[in-house]
Amino acid sequence: MSVTFPEYVQVGAHKYKVIFPYVFREDKGLYGQIDYAINEIRINGVDSNGIKLPDTVLVTTFFHELFHAISNVFTNRECNNERDIEAFAQGLAQVFCSAQLPDVTE
Ligand SMILES: [Zn+2]
Repeated sequence: MSVTFPEYVQVGAHKYKVIFPYVFREDKGLYGQIDYAINEIRINGVDSNGIKLPDTVLVTTFFHELFHAISNVFTNRECNNERDIEAFAQGLAQVFCSAQLPDVTE
């Protein structure tokens, strides 16, 4: 599997720029981050030792940050704890990684 991310994702009125790979200078252990102030989703490409992250980690990290954005808009952050966000991210990643879903982007 080779991972490519969309350049932008729309959540509610907000259009987030997806930055991959993002270099986290202050905390190299971060896999991902969302910045609501400037509408960015940042995905790290390597772990804190500089080793490339597996594709499945990249995908779940992307969905994790995306669910933060979705929660922010559609649940008024009622469903924004890390455990629930990660559960949704893992579940959706499983579906996308295992199913032959139709490409609806064209
Ligand atoms: Zn999180």
